Amino acid sequence: MLKLKDITVKYGSYTAVRNVNLEVGTGEIVVLLGSNGAGKSTVFKTVSGLNKNSSGDILFEGESINKRTPDKIVQSGIVQCAEGRKLFPSMTVHENLKMGAYVHRKNRKMIKESIEHVFELFPILEEKQHDMAGSLSGGQQQMLAIGRALMAKPKLMLLDEPSIGLAPLIVEQMFDVIQTINREGTTILLAEQNANAALKIANRGYVFENGSVVLEGTSDELFANDEIKKAYIGA
Ligand code: ATP
Repeated sequence: MLKLKDITVKYGSYTAVRNVNLEVGTGEIVVLLGSNGAGKSTVFKTVSGLNKNSSGDILFEGESINKRTPDKIVQSGIVQCAEGRKLFPSMTVHENLKMGAYVHRKNRKMIKESIEHVFELFPILEEKQHDMAGSLSGGQQQMLAIGRALMAKPKLMLLDEPSIGLAPLIVEQMFDVIQTINREGTTILLAEQNANAALKIANRGYVFENGSVVLEGTSDELFANDEIKKAYIGA
């Protein structure tokens, strides 16, 4: 579904991502592991069209999306759920969800059904639908961010650090819902520092260090790897 071919991304003269090759197959959950600053967010922003790669190509469903603008990339079916949530804090939960369906704004029936679907996945959002997004807890804001991304009906969802700053129980719920969203047909590319939780739900993963992929494999292979255990799982 998604293929990054030899992608290099620079900020000025600084190379943040170097010659990265990676693939996400239809229906998969793929995780990018790596410490702060390893280049995961830069990869996401490049796929979303917010950063431009200085070399290489990005293919989505066989077509190059390299030159597409961010809104065209959303229309193609790739939606990024941002780290740090980036909700509209002084709009209600319901209004935030509607904003997520901007690309389908002419289809009221679809929007209504999508909101119902998000409420099924996250019942707390239905309870809080008239509350301001800014008044929600960290976990609820993350749920709303995922819900808002779902409103665009993505084929591929990019999830950047969904577990960051959340209590372990909430992290578990979050990963359960990510798995449900995947089973319902959305392919997922996930960036995570919580390797333990991420590898449990992912099919495959890539390990980033200093902007390059240093290791790739199935989740089982990565889980069994001593370096990964030491660096990310704490075993
Ligand atoms: P994090 O989890 O902290 O977001 P990451 O693996 O996603 O880490 P990136 O955010 O992609 O890493 O950053 C990769 C490198 O690029 C880092 O050294 C970072 O300081 C640098 N970088 C990121 N954004 C910019 C920018 N806008 N301008 C200059 N350098 C940047």
